[in-house]
Amino acid sequence: MNTAKIKTLMGLSSAGLILAAPMSVWAHADGQSISQDALVSAAQTVSCELENGDITTCTKYVVKYVPDNLVIGPFCPKTTKQKGGIWHWDGDETGLYRIDESFLTMLSEQGYTFFNEDGQVLITDVRTSQPASQNTCLQASFDKSVEMTILLPKVPVKSETVTELGTVAKVGLALDGVPIFADAPSVLDTGHMPALDTCGGHIDPGGWYHWHATSTDINSIFKSDNLDAECAIEQNASAMFAYAFDGFPIYGSKEIDGKKPSDLDECNGHIGTTPDSPKPSYHYHASTTFPNLPTCLTGVVAKNNFTTNAAQGIGAHGGAGPGQGAPGHKGGTPPGFEEAAKKLGITANQLFKVVEKNGGRKLDISAAAKELGISEAALKAALPKPPR
Ligand SMILES: [Zn+2]
Ligand SMILES: [Zn+2]
Repeated sequence: MNTAKIKTLMGLSSAGLILAAPMSVWAHADGQSISQDALVSAAQTVSCELENGDITTCTKYVVKYVPDNLVIGPFCPKTTKQKGGIWHWDGDETGLYRIDESFLTMLSEQGYTFFNEDGQVLITDVRTSQPASQNTCLQASFDKSVEMTILLPKVPVKSETVTELGTVAKVGLALDGVPIFADAPSVLDTGHMPALDTCGGHIDPGGWYHWHATSTDINSIFKSDNLDAECAIEQNASAMFAYAFDGFPIYGSKEIDGKKPSDLDECNGHIGTTPDSPKPSYHYHASTTFPNLPTCLTGVVAKNNFTTNAAQGIGAHGGAGPGQGAPGHKGGTPPGFEEAAKKLGITANQLFKVVEKNGGRKLDISAAAKELGISEAALKAALPKPPR
């Protein structure tokens, strides 16, 4: 865990903003929240639009494909004799398992065989190739050029209705700088197993690492499930783990006094004091079963709150943009956008998206600048000259 993440009362620099908020939120996503080991560039305060149409301020984080010095893996074991990571099986004998010989044998008996006669596990690198057989263990390799841009509201706003978090829904950003998503796709749906490591993470087909669990309170689950697995990341069930995409903090499964909270709402949240907030404020807690994440969000998220410059995967630029998918043109943005985006401190895909949305070649500079939270002049200066 990084240490430069939790604001002390003394360190709060924007107390005015917080006091003006409808609810007291002492832990809020700002420039100091996320580990320096993960940031590509310094966090920025930008203007942003929430899903409910509110214009507010967000903290914008650009994070690396994986934070420096984070220990990850193992995912798929090479052979049935080795131990890989973990998997939450949702067929017969549902539960959380270590990916080892007995688990793989059980799956084979249920009609899902992930290994050959020699005991070699069938592994597919989903970033670079397609599975060659019906059941393979998925383990993507890194694309070290990937950057992820994340927008978190500085002052969280409660939503009128809760947002359910279904398969691979966006949950939040860990203080370590690792994005968090809800359930990984089921083997029952795809036939393939996107193996998780013992901290509940793996590499997306886009080439970047993310978590599907509250990693700083995951060993408690292994213990209660009697699972032979351990996450090497420092564990603390009372500590803050992440910011949800709505800006509210997520803590481990216990309160500051070590007790389990008893008044949680349907999203596993409540108003109470935390190690970071002497005044009661709204926050989520990890659950005590896998995946130990909130199952819904009670706040409003920002539009375009998660984008990557990856060629595929969650958050990748999915539009039919020029050059999309063309060899040597990964990310699919037009010439000059890479440089322009660099000048503006955002990803090329993010810039392209905003430009497309605001008129493309007949760009509404004012609207695009507003959406990016920069001046018209700055945007004009950075953009490539339109081709004639
Ligand atoms: Zn995943
Ligand atoms: Zn609490």
